[in-house]
This record gives sequence, structure tokens and C-alpha cells, in this order.
Amino acid sequence: MTEAIVKKEISSNIARISSEGASYVDVRFYIDDSSETLVLYDGDLEANDTTVQSGIGVRVLWDGAWGFAASSDPSGLEACFDNAAMNARTASRLVKVPLSMGKCDAVKGSYTTPVEIDPFTISLKDKLSFLSRMDNDLKEDFVIKRIVYAIFHKMKIHFQNSEGSEINKDLVSVFGTMIAMALDSDGEMQRRSMSLYSTGNGTAGWEMMTNPELFSGHATRVKSELSELIKAEPLEYGRRSVILQPGQGHLQVHETIGHPLELDRILGYELSYAGGSFVNLDSFGKLRYGSDKLSVSSYGSIENSPGSFGFDDDGTPERDYLLIDRGILVNALTSRAMVNEANNKAGRKIFQQSGGAARATSFYRAPIDRMTNVNILPGNDGTEEDIIASTEDGIVVDNPVSWSIGSNREHFHFGCEIAWEVKNGKKTRILRNPTYQGHTLEFYASLSAVGDESTWKVEQVNNCGKGEPNQVMQIGHGVPVIKFDDVITGERK
Ligand SMILES: [Zn+2]
Repeated sequence: MTEAIVKKEISSNIARISSEGASYVDVRFYIDDSSETLVLYDGDLEANDTTVQSGIGVRVLWDGAWGFAASSDPSGLEACFDNAAMNARTASRLVKVPLSMGKCDAVKGSYTTPVEIDPFTISLKDKLSFLSRMDNDLKEDFVIKRIVYAIFHKMKIHFQNSEGSEINKDLVSVFGTMIAMALDSDGEMQRRSMSLYSTGNGTAGWEMMTNPELFSGHATRVKSELSELIKAEPLEYGRRSVILQPGQGHLQVHETIGHPLELDRILGYELSYAGGSFVNLDSFGKLRYGSDKLSVSSYGSIENSPGSFGFDDDGTPERDYLLIDRGILVNALTSRAMVNEANNKAGRKIFQQSGGAARATSFYRAPIDRMTNVNILPGNDGTEEDIIASTEDGIVVDNPVSWSIGSNREHFHFGCEIAWEVKNGKKTRILRNPTYQGHTLEFYASLSAVGDESTWKVEQVNNCGKGEPNQVMQIGHGVPVIKFDDVITGERK
């Protein structure tokens, strides 16, 4: 069946199921969903995995209940719609809180990831020789393990719903990571790594990997930092300032701002799996989440990020809006149905419209609320050097090695790859095994410096997991260098 015929059949089936009594129907037709993962261990090819899939996911809302069905067989389209409708009708008999999508105008649009070189046009041979060169750059006598990997992903998706919306998306994302490991003087394994990032601007294709600033030029630095790390003293326990580089800051934001602000989580839909949120419906407009220096946005259309997709899986166009405005919580990461449920529960209109956060990982999974690009906005405290210069006693940390987060995201403990000691405004020596911990709200209240645009990077996340059954999602976080004061660091002996 050609693409055009499938699209036509989708339209007629949406009309049919709507006329039978569905209050809302939508369809995501994944014309192509391909990925390629290449992993080198110590220069040897450890994995060369490719996936190619296509299919259709149908959602039907009937008397306040969702039904979902999916098929990879285009000739089974009609049955797929019937299954989704039957599932919804069955579920509607048990509904306690009826769901509603509200009313929205039809949306016609398209979104294409800006790409200079489609990574799928680069031959396997060329990709492997590039990765081998990267691996070679990490080689040194003291390095006992080297890992270099790359992941390429592309999706061509057609969306239609019963409101007349029609959206086409062509998405490409590229991930790259290099890791070098060595033993320290206590025989403990230390690692230093670097992952491909973007400035938020520019194109998101193969050219990112070969860009020395964004990825390929960092091997020498990674190696030399590791050589110092294995000779370094461990960080001693104590309260001090902690300066997070974006390599660490993005995970801080992801775990303690992104996840707790997903509205389905706030409404209790994730309690059986990854947990809840300390945020509740009364928090919006009131809760002081952090100091005046903390402003956080959600934006699913940053020019260059794996969390950019233009329109979410409810068909909502992405907009740039604030979640936290100068320290005050003002909005959440939302989908249409969750916005309606939250407003009904609260008996007032907390949320004016969907934040465009309904996303599914594939055609055979139904969309759930999940963070788009959640970003800390750049501040007025200058460069990283300026922030260090204004720090009496602290550490600069980068890249996570361990994380542990309370089920309601109210507290956390992170271990990082590396720390640089800061004394009286100067970076002094490297310290190993740095950790820091805190209570989310107290921690963000202690945010005392936010770096300017020059420190802001979009870090990429290729494996955020959520939902039952699990859905793995790709996103980005734009984060500047950020400083927190009086933080518990290191481990008490
Ligand atoms: Zn996550």
C-alpha cells in the first residue's frame, strides 16, 4: 500500500469511528523509524545494531476512556481502528475520572530537523573509521578501557486527528559519547567522558559529530583530565559551593525539575513505577522553587536538540514558555487530557492550555506526559571564570557517574566524574570521587550564580525512561554554568 493510500484510509477510518460515537480519535503513522547504534570497546566493534520499523498507532477516546491499538501491517488498518475503539468502550465501563481532550482548532503543519548531512547517508565504513580515529585519540598507556559510541535515529511521522489536524514530522538525532577509564592509586576505577552537545543553534546531522568543538576535538582533554584524576586526592566531606558545568547541570535539571513537573506524575499516574512528585496542584503560582536567579523554560522547538519535534503527539504546536519564573513555579509539562483533568480536580483553571508534552516513543506505544527540552535560562553572572572568581571555597563538577533521587524528587545525591577545587577565586587542583546532595527546594534556593549565554549548552539525553510499559525518550536540556552555595559535598567518614 502506498503512503498516499494509507493516509486516505486513515482519514476515512477516523471519520467512521467518530460517527460511531468516539469523542476524539488520533493516529500516528510512522512511515519510517530507523536507528543505528555503533559501539567500540578498546577499538573493537562491540555492537552494530540497526532497527527499522514502521506502523500505525490509533488512540480513541470514548465516554472518557482511552483505547489504544497499533499495527505494523497497513492492510490491517480497519481492524486496528476497531480494536482501539473496542478497548476504549471496554475501559469506559470502569472509568472513575472521565478524560477529556477539550476543544482545539485543527492544526496543519510540519516540522523538520535542520540537517546538513543525513547520518544515514554516511557509509558504515566511514562511520567506523571516524569512530576508530576517536578511539585512537583516547589511547595512552595508563588508559585501561576505552569506549566510543554513536547512535543515529530518524523518524518520518504523519499525524491526523478527528479535529482535522494534519502534521508531518521528519526528525533526525545524533548522539555520541567517548569514555576513557583508568585505575587510581587506590586501585579504584576512574573515568572521564564527553558527550556530543549543541549550542542550541545550527544543524543536527552527522556534521555535529565531526565538529571538533561539539565532539570530535575533546579526546585529548578527556585523556589529560583522566591522567590528573587518577593521581588526585579524594574530595573531603564538608559544606561548600558547588559549580555545575552543563555536563552535570543537565541531569540535575532533568531529575529535579523536569520529572517532578510532569503533570501526569503530579496527578499520581506514575506512582506504581518511577514515583510521584513533591509538587501538587496548589503549588502553581505560589511555590518558591528556587532563588530569583532560577528561570526555567520548556521548549520543544529549540533549533538543534533531540527534544525538538515541533508538534507533540496530541497535535499541539510547541511553544516556548516558563515553568519557573524568577524562582516561582508557574507551569508544568502537560498534555491536553492531563490539563483538563488537573483543572477539573482543582476546580479552577490552573493551566490555560497544553504545554505540548504528550509524546510516545514509537508507533506501538500511547503518548504520555514527558518533558520536552527543559532549560535553565542564561543569567547575568558572566562566564565560568567570572563565577569561579567570585567563589571563596567550592568545587566545579562535571558529568554524572551515579545518581539517586527520592521517589517524589524531593531530595537527591549525585556522584560526578571530576571536581576542580576552587579556593579564593581560583581553580586549584583536581579532586576525585566528588559527590553532592541536597533537598531539591533548599538546593535551588541556594542558587547564587547563573552563567551567561557563553556558558549555555544543550546537553543531549538519549535514554530517559518512563511509563509502563517502559518508553525510552530522547531530549535535550539547555543549561548554563550554575553555582549553589552551602551544599553538602563528599561522604562523611
Ligand atoms: Zn528521565
